[in-house]
Amino acid sequence: MQPLTNKIKQVDRKPMTFMEKLYLPAIFKGMTITFSHIFKKKPTINYPEKQRPFSPVFRGLQILNRDEEGRENCTACGLCAVACPAEAITMEAAERQQGEEHLYKEEKYAAKYEINMLRCIFCGLCEEACPKDAIYLSETFTPADYQRKQFIYSKDDLLIPHPKENPDAYQKALGNRPQKVSEN
Ligand code: SF4
Ligand code: SF4
Repeated sequence: MQPLTNKIKQVDRKPMTFMEKLYLPAIFKGMTITFSHIFKKKPTINYPEKQRPFSPVFRGLQILNRDEEGRENCTACGLCAVACPAEAITMEAAERQQGEEHLYKEEKYAAKYEINMLRCIFCGLCEEACPKDAIYLSETFTPADYQRKQFIYSKDDLLIPHPKENPDAYQKALGNRPQKVSEN
């Protein structure tokens, strides 16, 4: 059969020589390499005790943003879902009712908002598409898990903590990102 690439390498099946059967030269060579690495600087760190600083352009887990009053910014316009190349975002819109003005900034809000993290490629296009500063990619990893369904993040998972009820967690989720001042 014609090979697709020229990477095929014939395996040497010649019988081993006496020196090869002793294995000692190979063990000595392996140990030399091992010892030579002992005095080199470690390329790894002891995560999670130690953490590397994030790049200023790092794009991690999405956060659904609130304004400084704690109202949800998202108006369920769907622009982020349209912009998403991985089709990872789904949502359902709802009308704000009387008495809910302290919960939702505008008359329409996302009753349901989901991101499938198994699809997401953390490109940041959802953040760029959003006209309401309602979604941004934070400096947080998506935690590892064993079950696929745990990677469907709901609105509750994505919403930033309330700035007045939980200011410390809010500031932590905000990271170094400046909060825009509300126009309303
Ligand atoms: S970061 Fe990119 S892939 Fe992930 S949800 Fe946003 S637009 Fe979609
Ligand atoms: S996050 Fe932004 S772009 Fe997406 S639905 Fe909400 S307001 Fe629209």
